[in-house]
Amino acid sequence: MNSFEAFKDPQLCRALLARLTAEATTPFRFMEVCGTHTVAIFQSGLRSLLPPTITHLTGPGCPVCVTHESEVAAFLDLAGRDDVVLTTFGDLMRVPGPKGRNLKTAKADGARVEVVYSPVDALAVAAANPGRTVVFLGVGFETTAPAVAATIKLAREQNLKNFRVLSFHKLVPPALEALLSDPDINVDAFILPGHVSAIIGATPYAFVAEKYHVPSVVTGFEPLDILTALLDITGMLKNNAPAIRNGYTRVVSDAGNPVAMAIMDEVFSPADALWRGLGLIPQSGLVIREEFADFDAMRLPGVELKETPPLPGCRCGEVLKGKMAPNECPLFGKACTPATPVGPCMVSTEGGCAAYFKYRLDL
Ligand code: SF4
Repeated sequence: MNSFEAFKDPQLCRALLARLTAEATTPFRFMEVCGTHTVAIFQSGLRSLLPPTITHLTGPGCPVCVTHESEVAAFLDLAGRDDVVLTTFGDLMRVPGPKGRNLKTAKADGARVEVVYSPVDALAVAAANPGRTVVFLGVGFETTAPAVAATIKLAREQNLKNFRVLSFHKLVPPALEALLSDPDINVDAFILPGHVSAIIGATPYAFVAEKYHVPSVVTGFEPLDILTALLDITGMLKNNAPAIRNGYTRVVSDAGNPVAMAIMDEVFSPADALWRGLGLIPQSGLVIREEFADFDAMRLPGVELKETPPLPGCRCGEVLKGKMAPNECPLFGKACTPATPVGPCMVSTEGGCAAYFKYRLDL
């Protein structure tokens, strides 16, 4: 058995699940902060096996889902410009914007939009389109920001004058602070993201336990990782001893990845940012520093974040805050399906609504 299989071992999973069922006698609600955890919890079958005392909430951990409607409108506006080629990861192509527009329909209408698999690929697009400005859509959390920062530095080294990034990157710890300071949000514990934590480490979450007394565990994506984290949380809740634990030490060091953090810090600086459903969160985004202003698409003439109404009928904002389960949205599975998504939570493979639909969860 290789190490990947070992973290899925059915016998061990059954044993941990039995322990969890025996020990989780007091009800609690946990939220996973990462879209990959959302999918892992559903895909592994854990979602339906958890003891009834444990309520699972999906959270704001899908990068596409938390991209604010004003940000979607801004990149759709850019797509409409004749002097621009947009480059993007594929999961943004179908995210709905105002009047039902998305990048796919914009492309069908003649916009130059190219799907890339890495931000570095966008540099080749820039080199091939010297007469146009090539803009890479930078969405995502601390996980993706270092690679985008490295790409900007590479563009400078290559003396590419027609490459820019629209930086809508978001930072996870300020979002947790925003959730925890909202009195309407009822979360007893967090499963903290493995990928983001590989970059920033476990230390930046200390406030979650110290200030808000909410136990949380950084963990991986295999069933044993998740079950161990839930057992750990159960113990901390029982003993009234909230802490931040790092259960993913095979990937995450408490201090994070200093090389990735240094490059992110060299190119970006924190700034207030808009999140879908959560609104404006102080110091929760990354903007391009003055030193790299020539690579900042927000500084192109005519690019701005305009007030944009939320998508009619879509309850993604409440889903992202754990206030509503996806299948409680009146549009779920009716007007809104993966083939006809009304909101981003049904578009993205990491979205809670898409996961509920895919795994047919009517729980
Ligand atoms: S089911 Fe569709 S409309 Fe409802 S919250 Fe999810 S994405 Fe939005």
